[in-house]
Amino acid sequence: MKYALITGASRGIGKAISKQLAQDGFSVIINYRLNDDEANKTLNEIKDAGGKGELLKFDVSKVDDIENALEKWADNNEGQYIEVLINNAGIRKDNLQVFMQNDEWADVINTNLNSFFYVTRRLLKDMLVKKNGRIINIVSLSGLTGVTGQTNYSAAKAGVIGATRSLAKEIARKRVTANCVAPGFIKTDMTEDLDEKQFRNVIPMRRFGKAEEVAYLVSFLASEKSSYITGEVIPVSGGIN
Ligand code: NAP
Repeated sequence: MKYALITGASRGIGKAISKQLAQDGFSVIINYRLNDDEANKTLNEIKDAGGKGELLKFDVSKVDDIENALEKWADNNEGQYIEVLINNAGIRKDNLQVFMQNDEWADVINTNLNSFFYVTRRLLKDMLVKKNGRIINIVSLSGLTGVTGQTNYSAAKAGVIGATRSLAKEIARKRVTANCVAPGFIKTDMTEDLDEKQFRNVIPMRRFGKAEEVAYLVSFLASEKSSYITGEVIPVSGGIN
């Protein structure tokens, strides 16, 4: 069985990625933090469509939580390894820097950036030993360009982009790739507070994207077809750059 772990997969983009990768033949490991109902719903939809999956609840912002959950998974699945990792879990806590609180900065950095380091380090060793693996990080256009009110979020996403580029160079010889996908405005709970009409003028395609439209690219990057692509940042943004 081929296993793919998707962090933050109970809702939004992570949910769409899980459903797509299950359709591609992976047994998907659905990570989330709090929302048991939505996580179960995602798993049931996957099973109803004939796919395979399981839930793995842990908080990606907490290193002990990550280590415990992944160690338990490895113990329960002896001889197996996770060959595709999608670092997708993320939060926004927007504020102008002058008003930004310590916890708004720390929570966003821990959830969006430090999680990348802790989860990836844990799974990387097996990928390198097996000489097979795909690491796909969901970043944001905000990590490539500045966005007012998002110094915390931009710093976290830009950090993941920089780390991905270095990591890709470290592991390329071992046939493990690392890439970033940078969504623009995608319709999920995270963008619920944004009025689509107000942003249409800045989006050449004049609409928000669907989570599935991000999942299609992730599906390609997780596949054998993407074997010569590494260290890249690929936008899914309806033409914003
Ligand atoms: P979303 O709808 O708010 O869903 C967030 C998911 O992450 C949920 O499954 C949530 O789990 C999980 N999560 C949050 N904190 C977590 C933690 N500490 N540990 C484990 N899981 C955690 O978000 P989304 O819009 O799908 O965003 C997914 C990714 O795409 C994020 O990295 C985001 O920054 C990025 N992105 C989104 C957009 C956009 O327009 N939507 C644009 C650019 C980039 P619970 O259900 O348990 O809370």
